Amino acid sequence: MGKILKFSGNNIDRLEVQRRDEAWISDILINPESKVIVYNKSKVLVKKIFSNITLKFISLGDIKSKGIEPELILLGDLSGELYLATDLYDFEDDKVNSILSDGDEFIDCRTAGDQLSLSQGGMISHSKSQLEWNRKNIFCGICGSKTNGQRGGQSRKCLGCYIELFPRTDPVIITLVSNGDYCLLGQSKGRLSKLNIYSCLAGFVDQGESIEEAVAREIMEESGIKVKNVNYYASQPWPFPWSLMIGCHAEAETNEINYDEHEMHSVKWFHRDEVLKALKEANDNLSVPGSIAIAHHLIKAWATKEV
Ligand SMILES: [Zn+2]
Repeated sequence: MGKILKFSGNNIDRLEVQRRDEAWISDILINPESKVIVYNKSKVLVKKIFSNITLKFISLGDIKSKGIEPELILLGDLSGELYLATDLYDFEDDKVNSILSDGDEFIDCRTAGDQLSLSQGGMISHSKSQLEWNRKNIFCGICGSKTNGQRGGQSRKCLGCYIELFPRTDPVIITLVSNGDYCLLGQSKGRLSKLNIYSCLAGFVDQGESIEEAVAREIMEESGIKVKNVNYYASQPWPFPWSLMIGCHAEAETNEINYDEHEMHSVKWFHRDEVLKALKEANDNLSVPGSIAIAHHLIKAWATKEV
C-alpha cells in the first residue's frame, strides 16, 4: 500500500456480492436501525464538541420520525453495522434542522475532510461522490427517459432504453516539475489566485491519453515547459465532485516559462529554500497548499529530497 492521503482510507466493505440482491437491498433501505450519513446541499452533518468534529450518524428511524422520506444509497458494512447516505437537498431547512441535536452542524466537505479521522474522511469521499453522481444522472443521456437507482446506488438503469450507467471517476494529473534546486509552481485563475497560494500544475486527463502524456500536455499548456522522466508518487480521491488526483514528479527539459494567461494567473520557479520555508508557513513571499491536498505532499517530498 502506498501513501494514504486525506479522503482515502475508507474502511467500509462495499458488499459487492450482497448488493446484487435487490430484495436484500430493499430491506436494508427501510431498516430503521440503519445508520445514515446525512448531507444538506452537499454539506455533511458532523457533531462538534469544542473544536473536535466527528461524523454524525442518524438512524433511518429517527429521520423518518420527522416526516422525511430520504432518497438513500447503501455505502456498505463497517464493523458489523450497515451505513447508508442521503442528501436532503429537496427538503425545507426547517424540516432538515428538526433532525439535529445540540452540537450538530452541516459543514463543507473540504473542512470536514481536513479535520476528520482518515477513515471518516474516506467515508465522505465515497458517499459525497456517489450521492452527487446519482443526483446528476436521473435522466438517460441517450434517450432522455428517467433512470432508476440500482445496487444501492452503485448503478442506474434507464427505464426507456434499459442502458446501465455506472458512477464516474474523473482522473486529474497533478505534477511537481523540478529543475535542480528549483521547482515550478503556479496559480490558476480563481480560488488559488484569490488566496495567493502557489501549487503544482494540474489538469484533467483527456480521452485517449496516458498519464505521462497528460502530464506533458498540461505542463506545456500551463507553463510552456517541456518535461521528461514523469514518475508516479501517490493518488487521492477528491470528491468535488468525483475526481481521482494522480500525483507525479517530473523534470524540466526547458527553463523558459510561457504560461497561458487565459487559464493561469501566475507561474514561477521557486528555490528549494523558499519552498521549505513556505511548508513551515514561515515565508511571507510564498504560500503553498495545506496537508489536505496532495500538492502539499508532492512539494514536500521534492523539497525534503524524499524523491
Ligand atoms: Zn435511455
